[in-house]
Amino acid sequence: MITLSHIIKRFGTATILNDISLSFPEGSVTALVGPSGGGKSTLLRSINLLEQPTSGSVQIGEHTVDFAPGRKVPFSQIQKIRCETGMVFQNFQLFPHRTALENVMEGLVTVQKWSREKARARAVDLLEKVGMGHKIESWPAELSGGQQQRVAIARALAPSPKVLLCDEPTSALDPELAGEVVDVLGQLAAEGTTMVMATHDLRLASKIANQVVFLEAGQVVETGSAEQIFRDPQRERTKRFVSSIS
Ligand code: ATP
Ligand code: MG
Repeated sequence: MITLSHIIKRFGTATILNDISLSFPEGSVTALVGPSGGGKSTLLRSINLLEQPTSGSVQIGEHTVDFAPGRKVPFSQIQKIRCETGMVFQNFQLFPHRTALENVMEGLVTVQKWSREKARARAVDLLEKVGMGHKIESWPAELSGGQQQRVAIARALAPSPKVLLCDEPTSALDPELAGEVVDVLGQLAAEGTTMVMATHDLRLASKIANQVVFLEAGQVVETGSAEQIFRDPQRERTKRFVSSIS
């Protein structure tokens, strides 16, 4: 279980996340949706501490980190949370001078201190799982966007994180390539991978999310199943948003 309690994030005087409390049970898939600037990326980045919340707490498994203004979180705690989270970005962010295989192995060797042999075996398994077993020696520049994103997903999963965080994983891709990535994420969801993703892709959200969180101006407006939020939203604001994108 991942629990966010009373997360507040301020940049200067602007409050970007305003008292967010959410739980992500093991095996659940949550889609964060809502208008641009609502705080979806900031919320994802707060879960893996790429951004440090101003106050509140983040609990992942047995690790809890509490935030308070002026309190410096020890790096060892940040590292523990980072090890439990894998992140996938809109623009893939593969290491350009590493092959697909090396991209997936890198963190296992340098951060987790695995032997190259063991890391290689895990990387090959993961690349096969995302349908990239035939391209392990390719450079990122030789891969399509959908293929690069699948390598990025394998890389994020390499250290067996408790949660896979995806920030707009399909929005840089044309519909066909996005479909490949949706299929891989759907397969991971079916296998019980816990995921939280920010997305504007309704196909992705309705296909694989079992919880949808509608976020606007740093606040949770409405939470429900994909069916509820997309077909029968309760709040006026959610209704307007859903009708504007469908
Ligand atoms: P989009 O759908 O466009 O990706 P989003 O919901 O992911 O939007 P965020 O990127 O989380 O929104 O941004 C939320 C707000 O926080 C925006 O107003 C943005 O300008 C602001 N913001 C984000 N990062 C910073 C930063 N480092 N410094 C100052 N303001 C920031
Ligand atoms: Mg964003």
